[in-house]
Amino acid sequence: MPRVRLATLPTPLEAGPALANGPRLWVKRDDLTGLGMGGNKARKLEFLCGRALADGATCLVTVGAGQSNHCRMTAAAGAVLGLETHLVLAGDRPAVLEGNQLLSDRFGAHLHFTGAGPAEWGSLEIAREALTDELTAQGLVATSIPIGGSTAVGSVGYIVAFDEIMSQCRDAGFVPRAIVFTSSSGGTHAGLVAGRAAWIATHPGEMVPDIVAIGVAKGVVAGFPSVAELARDALSVVGLTGTVDDDEVEVDGRWLGPDYAIPTAESRAARGWAAHNGAWVVDDVYTAKGMAGLLGNIEQGRWGTDDDVVFVHTGGQPEVFVRHES
Ligand SMILES: *Cc1c(COP(=O)(O)O)cnc(C)c1O
Repeated sequence: MPRVRLATLPTPLEAGPALANGPRLWVKRDDLTGLGMGGNKARKLEFLCGRALADGATCLVTVGAGQSNHCRMTAAAGAVLGLETHLVLAGDRPAVLEGNQLLSDRFGAHLHFTGAGPAEWGSLEIAREALTDELTAQGLVATSIPIGGSTAVGSVGYIVAFDEIMSQCRDAGFVPRAIVFTSSSGGTHAGLVAGRAAWIATHPGEMVPDIVAIGVAKGVVAGFPSVAELARDALSVVGLTGTVDDDEVEVDGRWLGPDYAIPTAESRAARGWAAHNGAWVVDDVYTAKGMAGLLGNIEQGRWGTDDDVVFVHTGGQPEVFVRHES
């Protein structure tokens, strides 16, 4: 498959602190993928932009919440590859750009604020399609990337990541019992599930980890998009065999709280825990809730003291520097 190198890989796999009566914890540092301050989208963008270049694209268009990490990393990819980049963002243009918006602007992207509410994904996608049509009419060859880069092509980045995790764990002398991570648009989840399916097909009889997504958006918790379907599509675009059944997809939605991007008591506690125990910086929108789900499952005794659990830190640091009213 066409691929451009944008991420610094492999990312480190770090041993976490000893946990009383809990599993051994490992943190896969996908916050350190490098591209434009890093995060999970760099892996997807290697394949999305590989395809864009193969298609002769002259510009990238994508979409996200106001503080979208995916948009910031797409802007970074556009800068690296010399592609004009347009971002369709929720909310209104603030007086002062902060966090991901500040970086996207610095990478040279055009920021289009739609005024949409923070989780109005449908209207954002419609705005992305309208802008793509407009740019096409102007003579640009636009590659238009849906929310989170969660297409079959983008998800291939996490098929590759699954193999990377398995080989790092093997080098460290264990097979993980579970891989836990934060999920919102489903592409990371689909890639890991697809990677696991391909692994099972080529390593019969071997132990494989459970793939446990902590859902931080209402859609993914309710089953949209279908992660199983996206995983099957990802296997097919890359030409791998493996079976993914709908019931293999696990989204733990108990840590979402009232809605996307609204912190919870558990996510605030997890944010402090991560900072104090590993100097891991987790953000309120994504990784603090993912970490809350990890710690919550550990506390509820899901894993034993002989188990190894890998938490994939998917990034999100720029959001930490955004001033909030509350
Ligand atoms: C996008 C994102 C996720 C979720 O990944 P999806 O593939 O969209 O489910 C998790 N953490 C961070 C920091 C993200 O930016």
